[in-house]
Amino acid sequence: MSEALTKNYIDGIWQEASAGATFKDVNPAVNSDVIGNFPESGVEDVDDAVRAARKAFRTWGSMPAPARGDYLRRIGDLLTERKSELAFQMTREMGKPFFETKGDVQEAIDTAYYAATETRRLFGHTVPSEMPNKFNMSIRRPIGVCGVITAWNFPVAVPTWKMFPALAAGNTVVFKPSEDAPHSGALLVKIFEDAGLPSGVVNLVQGSANAGRALVEHPDVNAVSFTGSTVTGSKIGESCGRLHKRFSLEMGGKNPMIVLADADLDLVIEGLLWGAFGTTGQRCTATSRLIVHEDVHDELVNTLKERASALKIGYGNEDDTEMGPVINQKAIDKIESYIAIGKEEGATLALGGNRAEGPGLEDGFFLEPTIFTNVTPNMRIAKEEIFGPVLSVIKISSYEEAVKVANNIEFGLSSAIYTQDIATAFRAMHEIEAGITYVNGPTIGAEAHMPFGGVKGTGNGHREGGWEVFEFYTETKTVYVDYSGKLQKAQIDNVED
Ligand code: NAD
Repeated sequence: MSEALTKNYIDGIWQEASAGATFKDVNPAVNSDVIGNFPESGVEDVDDAVRAARKAFRTWGSMPAPARGDYLRRIGDLLTERKSELAFQMTREMGKPFFETKGDVQEAIDTAYYAATETRRLFGHTVPSEMPNKFNMSIRRPIGVCGVITAWNFPVAVPTWKMFPALAAGNTVVFKPSEDAPHSGALLVKIFEDAGLPSGVVNLVQGSANAGRALVEHPDVNAVSFTGSTVTGSKIGESCGRLHKRFSLEMGGKNPMIVLADADLDLVIEGLLWGAFGTTGQRCTATSRLIVHEDVHDELVNTLKERASALKIGYGNEDDTEMGPVINQKAIDKIESYIAIGKEEGATLALGGNRAEGPGLEDGFFLEPTIFTNVTPNMRIAKEEIFGPVLSVIKISSYEEAVKVANNIEFGLSSAIYTQDIATAFRAMHEIEAGITYVNGPTIGAEAHMPFGGVKGTGNGHREGGWEVFEFYTETKTVYVDYSGKLQKAQIDNVED
């Protein structure tokens, strides 16, 4: 690895953290493979980065938006060129199989080109005035400096969901990647540099919670966009509320898949394997609850056990790997504690529950795909986010009961229903409390031009992706042009008593 990539990137210069502290980043599949030591940044580094972003905002924010789009297209081109090498390094750093990290990069590519086209739209409104000879319109203005704080599980896609629309709209950015994916963050920022993005427009500050907190608290950061756990998001929301900052929170999930008696079970199995065990269950949109009709419960669970136990577990950069490791020892401890909780609560451990063992698995954080049956809706394993390869199966006897169980959680990100009945599918679209509902597809998977986000404990009302994210990254300015040549008093001159 180039040495530069283990540094911060501030005002166009790769540099160490001012206090010189570092943290170690290792491969979760092969722990002896040390990726590097990255800067543990503090308040001073964040302050330098914010100052650079503020300075760059003066020119970037006033550049014609389509010219900003040209940079985004170049970034999209470089992401395309480097897709495989980037994906290889992402898999090495965070563990999901190579075909998944390639998809992660593809999402960033799609988002780059999509955001580039939006620079030619950034629509405002024109509406009639109440007054004669007066013109009313709203226009969009950038907000200023945006703090971007992200989780590790989509180390390229998620940061770009935030940064590309932020940049398209004319904002500058200070980016703090997860301490579990600093290298992927640096490789992404290197692409920005190589695409010729002007100095200071995107600044990279590595580090953990301290660096994140300094960014949120910095008085010259105008907006904060966060993806991570609900616990962290709540803290960030409190700070931003106190400081009157705009903030977008994308947080945890406990996503249900409802399977009714008329479902196509072959389709369900494929969806479950991908939804529950893709990214080793470490997705905010992972299918973590299977809510299945009693008529098909046994058949489905038996087939699922068979298929899940055959998944090839291993290092994601090996060709045939279907499920990689979890991210770190803390994740192992958390998931194992939930497996113990499930047993204590009286659920049946139908599959897995142990560390995965075998050749090539000795030096990594590998777990077996795990399935609990006889789960009841109020058990903790049915309600809390485990963030690992653990599926809780809840038996129901009607559509109404299924929806009640699906909604019996504090989260509301994604959801799925498998049924052949179109009327039931349409009811579910309205009745499941979630930001996303899939019909006859699993809970995971987002397209770059569609809104993404959740309700309840998952979010705070904003959406990433699609047009809606531009609402977050712009201020609306209302403009009145009075060309009547006289003083016209709204609400006084236009209403006769
Ligand atoms: P996390 O909350 O531990 O960390 C996320 C980021 O916040 C990291 O960069 C971390 O350094 C930073 N951070 C931690 N404490 C902070 C503080 N007090 N102030 C500012 N920044 C702070 O989350 P994680 O373990 O990295 O990621 C897993 C979580 O992310 C899961 O809950 C998952 O559901 C969620 N997630 C959500 C989405 C979504 O779009 N809704 C997508 C991916 C992951």
